[in-house]
Amino acid sequence: MKASHLSDQEIQRYVFATADCEQAIITHLQTCDHCRNRAKTYELIEASLQNEPAPAFDFDLAALVMNELPTQEEKFSIIEVLAYSAGFVGLGALSIVIYFFGRDLLVLFSGVSNIAIYMILCIVGMIFLPLCWEVYQSYQRRIRMLDFS
Ligand SMILES: [Zn+2]
Repeated sequence: MKASHLSDQEIQRYVFATADCEQAIITHLQTCDHCRNRAKTYELIEASLQNEPAPAFDFDLAALVMNELPTQEEKFSIIEVLAYSAGFVGLGALSIVIYFFGRDLLVLFSGVSNIAIYMILCIVGMIFLPLCWEVYQSYQRRIRMLDFS
């Protein structure tokens, strides 16, 4: 049994979470009128708070907030349009070349030494891998921005 009276936190723990309360606190409350009266005061406060209506705004908060949020407009910049156009034109040209000269393309590389082919592959890798890494990091940044938890 405690020599002094219980603190406010101990009494609140008894009132609001009796299951988590230590046995010494419960024993003290059973024997001490002063602390029991304080606990009854907290119980009265809790009962009066439960009878209060839930707080609510008298205006539509969601509508006000939604009006202030920037809208995401689906518009393409001229740079994006040009980039996509160039991409489609390039793919079309590559398709035409492969369609008409596909069998002859292998002849192009027959005269090239292996070291030259490896150098071309290395250069392509040096350009392509950092681009892939940048796209991956951009994706991760956007996912982190979406993660609100
Ligand atoms: Zn006491």
